[in-house]
Amino acid sequence: MTGNKLLFTPGPLTTSDTVKQAMLRDLGSRDAEFLSVVRQIRRRLLELGQVADGSYEAVLMQGSGTFAVESVLSSVIPRSGRLLVAINGAYGHRMAKIAKVQGIPCQSIVFEENSPVVVDRVRMALLADSTITHVGVIHCETSSGILNPVAEMGQAVRELGRIFIVDAMSSFGGIPIDIAANKIDFLISSANKCIQGVPGFAFVLARRDLIESSEGRARGLSLDLHAQWKGLESDGQFRFTPPTHAVLAFWQALQELDKEGGIKGRAARYSANRQALMQGMTALGFDAYLAPEHHSHIITSFRFPAHGSFDFPAFYRRLSDLGFVIYPGKVSNADCFRIGTIGHIFPQDILALVAAIRRVLDEMQIDSAHAAVYA
Ligand SMILES: *Cc1c(COP(=O)(O)O)cnc(C)c1O
Repeated sequence: MTGNKLLFTPGPLTTSDTVKQAMLRDLGSRDAEFLSVVRQIRRRLLELGQVADGSYEAVLMQGSGTFAVESVLSSVIPRSGRLLVAINGAYGHRMAKIAKVQGIPCQSIVFEENSPVVVDRVRMALLADSTITHVGVIHCETSSGILNPVAEMGQAVRELGRIFIVDAMSSFGGIPIDIAANKIDFLISSANKCIQGVPGFAFVLARRDLIESSEGRARGLSLDLHAQWKGLESDGQFRFTPPTHAVLAFWQALQELDKEGGIKGRAARYSANRQALMQGMTALGFDAYLAPEHHSHIITSFRFPAHGSFDFPAFYRRLSDLGFVIYPGKVSNADCFRIGTIGHIFPQDILALVAAIRRVLDEMQIDSAHAAVYA
């Protein structure tokens, strides 16, 4: 198979031809046009987050999404601070691991991977320990696809006078999030998720007063969030080599998001994608890992068929050979694979994927009616 495969993954995602074409230029890092694109991207991100009133700042950071999470944790939590992470999946664990590596005192509350974070437990932990200064959570825990109650949690965290850090990597741009109303102080996402750009940088929407007051706290040089912000504010430049091509692609991706009707329009397509996926997979006999009420339209975990001849690596390889890339599972307590419904993919692509899955099951001699007798 030559050409592009369709990616049904949590990122990088399928991008449009026009987004890919936007990269076919070399711009210098000090070029006036490049600086103008960076400025416009920062403004547009604030508008998308409905926080363009001067109370928030948008900071772009080179690297993948994890770099930006590490940038926030290592730059804004003071030496005297303490982080609480509410965890229900692999990305929550990663946040706690970053804190550990950075020498940031950190406490975790770990929930089951198939249930949302319980805000009352977070509230109790905060009431019990006044040394906790910051609270972190994942909005859409991409390891299962579950959505966490950030609105309710933000309320509790703000009420108790702590700072709220949200990893909205796989949801920002694909699910409407009212950052200010939800009391989110730092929101982190990346170029190659729901905005549908290519990998190369991530971004942080940060409360302006909090980023200002974090000067000098960074535990490293390249991920210093305050210094990165200052650089972008003073001469409009990244401090170190910017991912120029990825930035150009992202600007094109933002135009395409607008054309689709903004975040609401995009959420409607992703939701249609997911509906088509659930219909098709249910008809084939697959079981979703999460209860229906916890699902997001971002990514779905399916249990392996309870069938002796099912072999995930072979299943994956055959689908990939047909041009469809799915993803291994990431929950620790069940054998699952994942199918993402985000990126430049449409319900007809989902139907084609489901047809390919049916074909591969046939080839593997798995009677689709038996595909998931998991009780
Ligand atoms: C994709 C993702 C990340 C970042 O992963 P990278 O591989 O560093 O881009 C972080 N958190 C969540 C919830 C994600 O979905």
